[in-house]
Amino acid sequence: MEKISKIINEQKICSIIEKTSKPTPEIILNIIKKATQKRGLELEDIGYLLNTDDADLVGKIFQAAAQIKMEIYGERLVFFAPLYVSSFCVNDCKYCGFHNSNPTKRKKLTLEEVEEQTKILINMGHKRLLLEFGEDPQNTPIDYITDVIKTIYQTKTDKGEIRRLNVNIAATNVEDYQKLKAANIGTYQLFQETYHKPTYEKLHSGPKASFERQLLAHDNAFEAGIDDIGLGVLFGLYDYKFEVLSLISHAHYLEKKHQIGPHTFSVPRWQPAESVELDLPHYVSEDELLKIIAILRLAVPYTGMIISTRESAETREKAFKIGISQTSAASRTSPGGYGKEKNATQFSVADNRQVDEVINTVLNQGLLPSFCTACYRKGRTGKNFMDLAKPGKIHHLCRANGLLTFKEYLEDFASEKNKKQGQKVIDQSLVNITDKDTLQKTKQKLKEIEQGSRDIYF
Ligand code: SAM
Ligand code: SF4
Repeated sequence: MEKISKIINEQKICSIIEKTSKPTPEIILNIIKKATQKRGLELEDIGYLLNTDDADLVGKIFQAAAQIKMEIYGERLVFFAPLYVSSFCVNDCKYCGFHNSNPTKRKKLTLEEVEEQTKILINMGHKRLLLEFGEDPQNTPIDYITDVIKTIYQTKTDKGEIRRLNVNIAATNVEDYQKLKAANIGTYQLFQETYHKPTYEKLHSGPKASFERQLLAHDNAFEAGIDDIGLGVLFGLYDYKFEVLSLISHAHYLEKKHQIGPHTFSVPRWQPAESVELDLPHYVSEDELLKIIAILRLAVPYTGMIISTRESAETREKAFKIGISQTSAASRTSPGGYGKEKNATQFSVADNRQVDEVINTVLNQGLLPSFCTACYRKGRTGKNFMDLAKPGKIHHLCRANGLLTFKEYLEDFASEKNKKQGQKVIDQSLVNITDKDTLQKTKQKLKEIEQGSRDIYF
Protein backbone atom coordinates (compact mmCIF):
# COMPACT_ATOMS: atom_id res chain seq x y z
CA MET A 1 0.00 0.00 0.00
CA GLU A 2 2.79 2.37 0.94
CA LYS A 3 4.51 1.63 -2.35
CA ILE A 4 1.34 2.49 -4.27
CA SER A 5 0.87 5.82 -2.54
CA LYS A 6 4.41 6.83 -3.52
CA ILE A 7 3.31 6.52 -7.15
CA ILE A 8 -0.22 7.83 -6.95
CA ASN A 9 -1.87 9.36 -3.98
CA GLU A 10 -5.60 9.16 -4.70
CA GLN A 11 -6.55 11.66 -2.03
CA LYS A 12 -3.98 14.20 -3.21
CA ILE A 13 -5.11 13.87 -6.83
CA CYS A 14 -8.79 14.33 -5.91
CA SER A 15 -7.97 17.40 -3.84
CA ILE A 16 -5.97 18.88 -6.76
CA ILE A 17 -8.95 18.36 -9.09
CA GLU A 18 -11.16 20.12 -6.52
CA LYS A 19 -8.72 22.95 -5.78
CA THR A 20 -8.15 23.75 -9.47
CA SER A 21 -11.80 23.54 -10.47
CA LYS A 22 -12.23 27.24 -11.26
CA PRO A 23 -9.27 28.39 -13.33
CA THR A 24 -9.17 32.07 -14.31
CA PRO A 25 -7.85 33.11 -17.75
CA GLU A 26 -4.85 34.67 -16.00
CA ILE A 27 -3.92 31.39 -14.30
CA ILE A 28 -4.21 29.46 -17.57
CA LEU A 29 -2.18 31.98 -19.58
CA ASN A 30 0.58 31.88 -16.95
CA ILE A 31 0.67 28.07 -17.05
CA ILE A 32 0.85 28.10 -20.85
CA LYS A 33 3.75 30.56 -20.65
CA LYS A 34 5.53 28.32 -18.16
CA ALA A 35 4.92 25.26 -20.39
CA THR A 36 6.56 26.89 -23.40
CA GLN A 37 9.85 26.84 -21.48
CA LYS A 38 9.67 23.05 -22.02
CA ARG A 39 10.55 22.12 -18.45
CA GLY A 40 7.28 20.38 -17.73
CA LEU A 41 4.48 21.25 -15.32
CA GLU A 42 3.45 20.51 -11.75
CA LEU A 43 0.32 18.49 -10.97
CA GLU A 44 -1.53 21.61 -9.85
CA ASP A 45 -0.80 23.36 -13.18
CA ILE A 46 -2.11 20.30 -15.00
CA GLY A 47 -5.24 20.30 -12.83
CA TYR A 48 -6.02 23.86 -13.91
CA LEU A 49 -5.51 22.99 -17.59
CA LEU A 50 -7.76 19.92 -17.29
CA ASN A 51 -10.47 22.02 -15.68
CA THR A 52 -10.47 24.61 -18.50
CA ASP A 53 -13.50 24.51 -20.77
CA ASP A 54 -13.31 28.01 -22.24
CA ALA A 55 -12.94 27.49 -26.00
CA ASP A 56 -10.48 30.39 -26.47
CA LEU A 57 -8.22 29.16 -23.71
CA VAL A 58 -8.38 25.56 -24.93
CA GLY A 59 -7.41 26.93 -28.37
CA LYS A 60 -4.37 28.56 -26.75
CA ILE A 61 -3.43 25.27 -25.06
CA PHE A 62 -3.57 23.60 -28.49
CA GLN A 63 -1.40 26.33 -30.02
CA ALA A 64 1.23 25.98 -27.31
CA ALA A 65 1.19 22.19 -27.65
CA ALA A 66 1.68 22.47 -31.42
CA GLN A 67 4.58 24.86 -30.87
CA ILE A 68 6.28 22.58 -28.33
CA LYS A 69 5.74 19.58 -30.58
CA MET A 70 7.39 21.39 -33.47
CA GLU A 71 10.33 22.63 -31.35
CA ILE A 72 11.10 19.20 -29.88
CA TYR A 73 10.01 16.71 -32.52
CA GLY A 74 10.02 18.93 -35.61
CA GLU A 75 7.91 17.77 -38.54
CA ARG A 76 8.70 14.07 -37.95
CA LEU A 77 6.09 11.41 -37.27
CA VAL A 78 7.35 7.90 -36.54
CA PHE A 79 5.44 4.89 -37.95
CA PHE A 80 5.02 1.39 -36.52
CA ALA A 81 2.58 -1.53 -36.62
CA PRO A 82 1.31 -3.83 -33.86
CA LEU A 83 1.84 -7.55 -34.34
CA TYR A 84 -0.63 -9.66 -32.38
CA VAL A 85 1.08 -12.93 -31.51
CA SER A 86 -1.37 -14.70 -29.20
CA SER A 87 -4.96 -14.24 -28.03
CA PHE A 88 -4.70 -16.83 -25.24
CA CYS A 89 -5.33 -15.07 -21.97
CA VAL A 90 -5.93 -16.14 -18.38
CA ASN A 91 -7.32 -12.74 -17.39
CA ASP A 92 -10.89 -11.59 -17.64
CA CYS A 93 -10.48 -7.86 -18.24
CA LYS A 94 -14.03 -6.66 -18.80
CA TYR A 95 -13.15 -4.25 -21.61
CA CYS A 96 -11.08 -6.58 -23.82
CA GLY A 97 -12.12 -8.95 -26.62
CA PHE A 98 -9.50 -11.49 -25.45
CA HIS A 99 -11.02 -11.74 -21.97
CA ASN A 100 -10.95 -15.29 -20.69
CA SER A 101 -14.70 -15.87 -20.50
CA ASN A 102 -15.16 -15.02 -24.18
CA PRO A 103 -15.79 -18.49 -25.69
CA THR A 104 -14.13 -17.46 -28.98
CA LYS A 105 -11.42 -19.63 -30.58
CA ARG A 106 -7.90 -18.66 -29.49
CA LYS A 107 -4.86 -18.44 -31.69
CA LYS A 108 -1.14 -18.47 -30.97
CA LEU A 109 1.22 -18.03 -33.92
CA THR A 110 3.76 -20.74 -34.63
CA LEU A 111 7.28 -19.45 -35.32
CA GLU A 112 6.67 -20.13 -39.04
CA GLU A 113 3.55 -17.98 -38.86
CA VAL A 114 5.48 -15.29 -37.01
CA GLU A 115 7.94 -15.26 -39.92
CA GLU A 116 5.09 -15.04 -42.47
CA GLN A 117 3.40 -12.15 -40.65
CA THR A 118 6.74 -10.37 -40.34
CA LYS A 119 7.40 -10.70 -44.07
CA ILE A 120 4.00 -9.18 -44.83
CA LEU A 121 4.73 -6.28 -42.48
CA ILE A 122 8.20 -5.72 -43.96
CA ASN A 123 6.66 -5.65 -47.43
CA MET A 124 4.16 -3.01 -46.28
CA GLY A 125 7.11 -0.73 -45.46
CA HIS A 126 7.29 -1.18 -41.69
CA LYS A 127 10.60 -1.17 -39.80
CA ARG A 128 9.34 -1.19 -36.23
CA LEU A 129 6.73 -3.39 -34.58
CA LEU A 130 4.92 -3.53 -31.28
CA LEU A 131 4.39 -7.13 -30.17
CA GLU A 132 1.11 -7.90 -28.40
CA PHE A 133 0.35 -10.98 -26.30
CA GLY A 134 -2.44 -12.00 -23.96
CA GLU A 135 -1.18 -13.28 -20.61
CA ASP A 136 -0.88 -17.05 -20.48
CA PRO A 137 2.18 -18.59 -18.82
CA GLN A 138 1.26 -22.08 -20.14
CA ASN A 139 0.69 -21.19 -23.78
CA THR A 140 3.02 -18.22 -24.12
CA PRO A 141 5.83 -18.51 -21.54
CA ILE A 142 8.67 -16.00 -21.64
CA ASP A 143 10.90 -18.38 -23.62
CA TYR A 144 8.26 -18.56 -26.38
CA ILE A 145 8.10 -14.74 -26.34
CA THR A 146 11.88 -14.43 -26.73
CA ASP A 147 11.82 -17.05 -29.52
CA VAL A 148 9.23 -14.92 -31.32
CA ILE A 149 11.48 -11.88 -30.94
CA LYS A 150 14.51 -13.78 -32.25
CA THR A 151 12.49 -15.08 -35.21
CA ILE A 152 11.35 -11.59 -36.18
CA TYR A 153 14.84 -10.07 -35.97
CA GLN A 154 16.14 -12.89 -38.19
CA THR A 155 13.42 -12.50 -40.83
CA LYS A 156 14.40 -10.69 -44.01
CA THR A 157 12.84 -10.06 -47.41
CA ASP A 158 14.31 -8.33 -50.45
CA LYS A 159 12.58 -5.19 -49.08
CA GLY A 160 14.49 -5.22 -45.81
CA GLU A 161 13.91 -6.22 -42.20
CA ILE A 162 12.31 -5.17 -38.93
CA ARG A 163 14.83 -3.11 -36.98
CA ARG A 164 13.14 -2.43 -33.67
CA LEU A 165 10.73 -4.52 -31.63
CA ASN A 166 8.74 -2.91 -28.85
CA VAL A 167 6.88 -5.28 -26.58
CA ASN A 168 3.57 -5.15 -24.73
CA ILE A 169 3.32 -8.13 -22.40
CA ALA A 170 1.68 -8.58 -19.05
CA ALA A 171 3.43 -7.37 -15.89
CA THR A 172 6.09 -9.86 -14.84
CA ASN A 173 9.19 -10.36 -12.67
CA VAL A 174 12.75 -9.04 -12.98
CA GLU A 175 14.04 -12.35 -14.35
CA ASP A 176 11.57 -12.31 -17.27
CA TYR A 177 12.34 -8.67 -17.99
CA GLN A 178 16.04 -9.56 -18.07
CA LYS A 179 15.22 -12.10 -20.79
CA LEU A 180 13.36 -9.42 -22.76
CA LYS A 181 16.30 -7.07 -22.36
CA ALA A 182 18.71 -9.78 -23.55
CA ALA A 183 16.45 -10.37 -26.57
CA ASN A 184 17.15 -6.76 -27.55
CA ILE A 185 13.73 -5.17 -27.25
CA GLY A 186 13.21 -1.45 -27.79
CA THR A 187 10.49 -0.11 -25.50
CA TYR A 188 8.62 -2.16 -22.92
CA GLN A 189 5.05 -0.91 -22.83
CA LEU A 190 2.51 -1.62 -20.17
CA PHE A 191 -0.66 0.36 -19.53
CA GLN A 192 -2.15 0.81 -16.10
CA GLU A 193 -5.57 0.85 -17.84
CA THR A 194 -7.04 2.84 -14.93
CA TYR A 195 -5.18 4.38 -12.00
CA HIS A 196 -8.36 4.35 -9.94
CA LYS A 197 -7.92 1.30 -7.70
CA PRO A 198 -11.62 0.53 -6.99
CA THR A 199 -12.42 0.76 -10.73
CA TYR A 200 -9.34 -1.32 -11.58
CA GLU A 201 -10.40 -4.03 -9.15
CA LYS A 202 -13.95 -4.03 -10.49
CA LEU A 203 -12.82 -4.50 -14.10
CA HIS A 204 -10.17 -7.20 -13.65
CA SER A 205 -9.93 -10.79 -12.54
CA GLY A 206 -7.04 -13.21 -12.92
CA PRO A 207 -3.42 -12.33 -12.10
CA LYS A 208 -3.81 -8.90 -13.69
CA ALA A 209 -6.38 -8.05 -11.00
CA SER A 210 -3.50 -7.08 -8.71
CA PHE A 211 -3.39 -3.28 -8.99
CA GLU A 212 -0.01 -3.34 -7.28
CA ARG A 213 1.49 -5.86 -9.71
CA GLN A 214 0.50 -3.64 -12.64
CA LEU A 215 1.68 -0.43 -11.03
CA LEU A 216 5.08 -1.76 -9.92
CA ALA A 217 5.87 -3.61 -13.16
CA HIS A 218 7.87 -0.74 -14.64
CA ASP A 219 10.11 -0.68 -11.57
CA ASN A 220 10.88 -4.37 -12.17
CA ALA A 221 11.63 -3.63 -15.81
CA PHE A 222 14.02 -0.82 -14.82
CA GLU A 223 15.67 -3.14 -12.31
CA ALA A 224 16.22 -5.60 -15.16
CA GLY A 225 18.00 -2.89 -17.15
CA ILE A 226 15.19 -1.96 -19.55
CA ASP A 227 15.41 1.81 -19.70
CA ASP A 228 12.83 2.62 -22.40
CA ILE A 229 9.43 2.30 -20.77
CA GLY A 230 5.97 3.11 -22.10
CA LEU A 231 3.00 4.05 -19.90
CA GLY A 232 -0.67 4.40 -20.79
CA VAL A 233 -4.26 4.67 -19.70
CA LEU A 234 -7.26 3.09 -21.39
CA PHE A 235 -9.47 6.16 -21.58
CA GLY A 236 -13.15 5.64 -20.86
CA LEU A 237 -12.80 3.46 -17.78
CA TYR A 238 -12.65 6.31 -15.24
CA ASP A 239 -12.64 10.12 -15.00
CA TYR A 240 -10.00 11.34 -17.45
CA LYS A 241 -8.86 14.18 -15.17
CA PHE A 242 -7.97 11.69 -12.47
CA GLU A 243 -6.24 9.44 -15.03
CA VAL A 244 -4.12 12.21 -16.57
CA LEU A 245 -2.94 13.46 -13.17
CA SER A 246 -2.14 9.90 -12.12
CA LEU A 247 -0.27 9.16 -15.33
CA ILE A 248 1.90 12.23 -14.80
CA SER A 249 2.36 11.31 -11.16
CA HIS A 250 3.59 7.88 -12.26
CA ALA A 251 5.96 9.52 -14.76
CA HIS A 252 7.31 11.90 -12.08
CA TYR A 253 7.82 8.95 -9.73
CA LEU A 254 9.80 6.96 -12.31
CA GLU A 255 11.91 9.98 -13.18
CA LYS A 256 12.71 10.60 -9.51
CA LYS A 257 13.42 6.97 -8.69
CA HIS A 258 15.35 5.90 -11.79
CA GLN A 259 16.45 9.30 -13.14
CA ILE A 260 14.64 8.36 -16.35
CA GLY A 261 11.09 9.29 -17.19
CA PRO A 262 8.90 7.19 -19.50
CA HIS A 263 9.94 7.09 -23.14
CA THR A 264 6.33 7.14 -24.34
CA PHE A 265 2.74 7.65 -23.30
CA SER A 266 -0.09 5.88 -25.12
CA VAL A 267 -3.57 7.37 -25.14
CA PRO A 268 -5.91 4.57 -26.26
CA ARG A 269 -9.68 5.07 -25.96
CA TRP A 270 -11.85 2.04 -25.38
CA GLN A 271 -13.31 0.56 -28.60
CA PRO A 272 -16.08 -2.00 -29.10
CA ALA A 273 -14.94 -5.61 -28.86
CA GLU A 274 -16.47 -9.04 -29.33
CA SER A 275 -18.33 -10.36 -26.29
CA VAL A 276 -17.71 -7.16 -24.35
CA GLU A 277 -20.61 -5.28 -22.84
CA LEU A 278 -19.31 -2.39 -20.87
CA ASP A 279 -21.06 0.59 -19.35
CA LEU A 280 -18.86 3.58 -20.09
CA PRO A 281 -19.98 6.33 -17.73
CA HIS A 282 -16.61 8.00 -18.31
CA TYR A 283 -16.67 7.99 -22.11
CA VAL A 284 -14.05 10.42 -23.46
CA SER A 285 -15.18 12.50 -26.44
CA GLU A 286 -12.94 13.36 -29.38
CA ASP A 287 -12.55 16.95 -28.10
CA GLU A 288 -11.59 15.66 -24.68
CA LEU A 289 -9.06 13.24 -26.16
CA LEU A 290 -7.42 16.06 -28.12
CA LYS A 291 -7.34 18.22 -25.01
CA ILE A 292 -5.69 15.36 -23.10
CA ILE A 293 -3.03 15.00 -25.79
CA ALA A 294 -2.29 18.74 -25.82
CA ILE A 295 -2.07 18.89 -22.02
CA LEU A 296 0.27 15.88 -21.89
CA ARG A 297 2.46 17.59 -24.48
CA LEU A 298 2.72 20.65 -22.24
CA ALA A 299 3.15 18.64 -19.05
CA VAL A 300 5.90 16.21 -20.13
CA PRO A 301 7.37 17.65 -23.33
CA TYR A 302 10.13 15.07 -23.86
CA THR A 303 7.98 11.98 -23.54
CA GLY A 304 6.97 10.63 -26.95
CA MET A 305 3.25 10.16 -27.50
CA ILE A 306 1.56 7.38 -29.43
CA ILE A 307 -1.82 7.28 -31.16
CA SER A 308 -3.16 4.08 -32.70
CA THR A 309 -5.65 3.17 -35.41
CA ARG A 310 -8.31 2.90 -32.69
CA GLU A 311 -8.93 6.53 -33.68
CA SER A 312 -10.42 7.73 -36.96
CA ALA A 313 -8.31 9.30 -39.72
CA GLU A 314 -9.77 12.73 -38.86
CA THR A 315 -9.01 12.53 -35.14
CA ARG A 316 -5.51 11.26 -35.86
CA GLU A 317 -4.79 14.10 -38.24
CA LYS A 318 -5.71 16.66 -35.57
CA ALA A 319 -3.72 14.78 -32.92
CA PHE A 320 -0.53 14.70 -35.04
CA LYS A 321 -0.43 18.52 -34.94
CA ILE A 322 -0.72 18.95 -31.19
CA GLY A 323 1.60 16.41 -29.71
CA ILE A 324 1.64 12.91 -31.18
CA SER A 325 5.12 11.73 -32.20
CA GLN A 326 4.41 8.08 -33.12
CA THR A 327 1.56 6.37 -34.91
CA SER A 328 0.56 2.93 -36.07
CA ALA A 329 -0.84 2.38 -39.56
CA ALA A 330 -2.80 -0.38 -41.30
CA SER A 331 -3.03 -2.34 -38.04
CA ARG A 332 -4.73 -5.66 -37.49
CA THR A 333 -5.68 -6.68 -33.96
CA SER A 334 -5.80 -10.46 -34.24
CA PRO A 335 -3.00 -13.05 -34.36
CA GLY A 336 -2.46 -13.82 -38.04
CA GLY A 337 -4.47 -10.69 -38.97
CA TYR A 338 -2.05 -9.58 -41.70
CA GLY A 339 -2.67 -12.76 -43.67
CA LYS A 340 -5.87 -14.34 -44.94
CA GLU A 341 -6.71 -16.11 -41.70
CA LYS A 342 -9.66 -14.69 -39.73
CA ASN A 343 -9.26 -14.89 -35.97
CA ALA A 344 -10.87 -13.09 -33.06
CA THR A 345 -9.76 -9.46 -32.74
CA GLN A 346 -8.96 -7.71 -29.50
CA PHE A 347 -11.09 -4.68 -30.47
CA SER A 348 -12.23 -2.95 -33.64
CA VAL A 349 -10.19 -0.17 -35.22
CA ALA A 350 -11.55 3.05 -36.74
CA ASP A 351 -8.78 3.74 -39.27
CA ASN A 352 -8.49 0.90 -41.79
CA ARG A 353 -6.39 2.69 -44.41
CA GLN A 354 -3.30 1.20 -46.04
CA VAL A 355 0.13 2.55 -45.00
CA ASP A 356 0.54 4.50 -48.26
CA GLU A 357 -2.83 6.25 -47.77
CA VAL A 358 -1.94 7.28 -44.22
CA ILE A 359 1.44 8.52 -45.49
CA ASN A 360 -0.36 10.59 -48.11
CA THR A 361 -2.44 12.45 -45.50
CA VAL A 362 0.62 12.97 -43.35
CA LEU A 363 2.54 14.43 -46.31
CA ASN A 364 -0.38 16.74 -47.09
CA GLN A 365 -0.04 18.02 -43.53
CA GLY A 366 3.61 18.88 -44.30
CA LEU A 367 4.83 16.21 -41.87
CA LEU A 368 7.76 13.89 -42.50
CA PRO A 369 6.98 10.17 -42.06
CA SER A 370 9.88 8.49 -40.27
CA PHE A 371 10.76 4.81 -39.94
CA CYS A 372 13.82 5.59 -37.85
CA THR A 373 15.21 3.07 -35.37
CA ALA A 374 18.67 4.61 -35.00
CA CYS A 375 18.70 5.72 -31.35
CA TYR A 376 18.22 2.35 -29.78
CA ARG A 377 20.70 0.74 -32.16
CA LYS A 378 23.27 3.40 -31.29
CA GLY A 379 22.65 2.95 -27.55
CA ARG A 380 20.83 6.28 -27.25
CA THR A 381 18.18 4.98 -24.83
CA GLY A 382 16.98 5.87 -21.34
CA LYS A 383 19.13 8.53 -19.66
CA ASN A 384 21.55 8.75 -22.61
CA PHE A 385 18.63 9.66 -24.84
CA MET A 386 17.13 12.23 -22.45
CA ASP A 387 20.56 13.85 -21.84
CA LEU A 388 20.78 14.48 -25.57
CA ALA A 389 17.11 15.29 -26.16
CA LYS A 390 16.61 17.86 -23.40
CA PRO A 391 19.33 20.33 -24.48
CA GLY A 392 18.14 19.86 -28.09
CA LYS A 393 21.32 18.00 -29.14
CA ILE A 394 19.55 15.22 -30.98
CA HIS A 395 17.03 17.17 -33.01
CA HIS A 396 19.12 17.55 -36.18
CA LEU A 397 20.15 13.87 -36.09
CA CYS A 398 16.53 12.76 -35.72
CA ARG A 399 15.48 14.88 -38.65
CA ALA A 400 18.32 13.50 -40.77
CA ASN A 401 17.55 9.90 -39.77
CA GLY A 402 13.86 10.47 -40.42
CA LEU A 403 14.71 11.74 -43.89
CA LEU A 404 16.92 8.75 -44.67
CA THR A 405 14.34 6.19 -43.61
CA PHE A 406 11.56 8.00 -45.45
CA LYS A 407 13.75 8.06 -48.56
CA GLU A 408 14.03 4.26 -48.27
CA TYR A 409 10.24 4.09 -48.04
CA LEU A 410 9.87 6.23 -51.17
CA GLU A 411 12.34 4.07 -53.10
CA ASP A 412 10.89 0.72 -52.02
CA PHE A 413 7.19 1.09 -51.29
CA ALA A 414 5.60 4.41 -52.24
CA SER A 415 2.93 5.01 -54.88
CA GLU A 416 3.81 7.45 -57.69
CA LYS A 417 1.66 10.10 -56.02
CA ASN A 418 3.55 9.79 -52.72
CA LYS A 419 6.93 9.68 -54.47
CA LYS A 420 6.33 13.17 -55.88
CA GLN A 421 4.74 14.60 -52.78
CA GLY A 422 7.34 12.90 -50.57
CA GLN A 423 10.27 14.40 -52.43
CA LYS A 424 8.80 17.86 -51.80
CA VAL A 425 8.58 17.16 -48.06
CA ILE A 426 12.17 15.86 -48.09
CA ASP A 427 13.35 19.09 -49.76
CA GLN A 428 11.46 21.23 -47.23
CA SER A 429 12.84 19.18 -44.37
CA LEU A 430 16.45 19.46 -45.61
CA VAL A 431 16.14 23.25 -45.38
CA ASN A 432 15.51 22.80 -41.66
CA ILE A 433 18.85 21.05 -41.03
CA THR A 434 20.90 24.01 -39.89
CA ASP A 435 24.09 22.13 -39.01
CA LYS A 436 26.19 22.34 -42.19
CA ASP A 437 28.11 19.15 -41.65
CA THR A 438 24.94 17.11 -40.95
CA LEU A 439 23.24 18.65 -43.98
CA GLN A 440 26.10 17.75 -46.29
CA LYS A 441 26.31 14.19 -44.93
CA THR A 442 22.53 13.75 -45.16
CA LYS A 443 22.50 14.80 -48.81
CA GLN A 444 25.33 12.36 -49.51
CA LYS A 445 23.50 9.51 -47.75
CA LEU A 446 20.25 10.31 -49.60
CA LYS A 447 22.17 9.83 -52.86
CA GLU A 448 23.58 6.53 -51.61
CA ILE A 449 20.02 5.34 -50.87
CA GLU A 450 18.95 6.29 -54.40
CA GLN A 451 21.85 4.15 -55.62
CA GLY A 452 20.68 1.14 -53.61
CA SER A 453 22.27 1.45 -50.12
CA ARG A 454 19.96 0.72 -47.21
CA ASP A 455 19.92 1.08 -43.43
CA ILE A 456 22.31 3.99 -43.15
CA TYR A 457 21.88 6.30 -40.21
CA PHE A 458 23.53 8.68 -37.78
N1 SAM B 1 -2.27 -8.48 -22.35
C1 SAM B 1 -1.30 -7.49 -22.03
C2 SAM B 1 -1.87 -6.51 -21.06
O1 SAM B 1 -3.08 -6.50 -20.88
O2 SAM B 1 -1.10 -5.75 -20.46
C3 SAM B 1 -0.81 -6.86 -23.30
C4 SAM B 1 -1.53 -5.74 -23.84
S1 SAM B 1 -3.08 -5.83 -24.64
C5 SAM B 1 -2.81 -6.88 -26.00
C6 SAM B 1 -2.93 -4.15 -25.22
C7 SAM B 1 -3.79 -3.10 -24.63
O3 SAM B 1 -5.00 -3.03 -25.37
C8 SAM B 1 -4.27 -3.23 -23.21
O4 SAM B 1 -3.30 -2.81 -22.31
C9 SAM B 1 -5.51 -2.35 -23.19
O5 SAM B 1 -5.22 -1.05 -22.74
C10 SAM B 1 -5.90 -2.25 -24.65
N2 SAM B 1 -7.27 -2.71 -24.87
C11 SAM B 1 -7.84 -3.84 -24.41
N3 SAM B 1 -9.14 -3.89 -24.80
C12 SAM B 1 -9.38 -2.77 -25.52
C13 SAM B 1 -10.54 -2.24 -26.18
N4 SAM B 1 -11.68 -2.87 -26.17
N5 SAM B 1 -10.41 -1.05 -26.82
C14 SAM B 1 -9.24 -0.41 -26.85
N6 SAM B 1 -8.12 -0.85 -26.26
C15 SAM B 1 -8.19 -2.02 -25.58
FE1 SF4 C 1 -5.79 -10.40 -21.59
FE2 SF4 C 1 -4.51 -8.07 -21.94
FE3 SF4 C 1 -6.98 -8.44 -22.89
FE4 SF4 C 1 -6.63 -8.27 -20.29
S1 SF4 C 1 -6.19 -6.63 -21.81
S2 SF4 C 1 -7.90 -9.80 -21.32
S3 SF4 C 1 -4.64 -9.23 -20.03
S4 SF4 C 1 -5.13 -9.47 -23.53
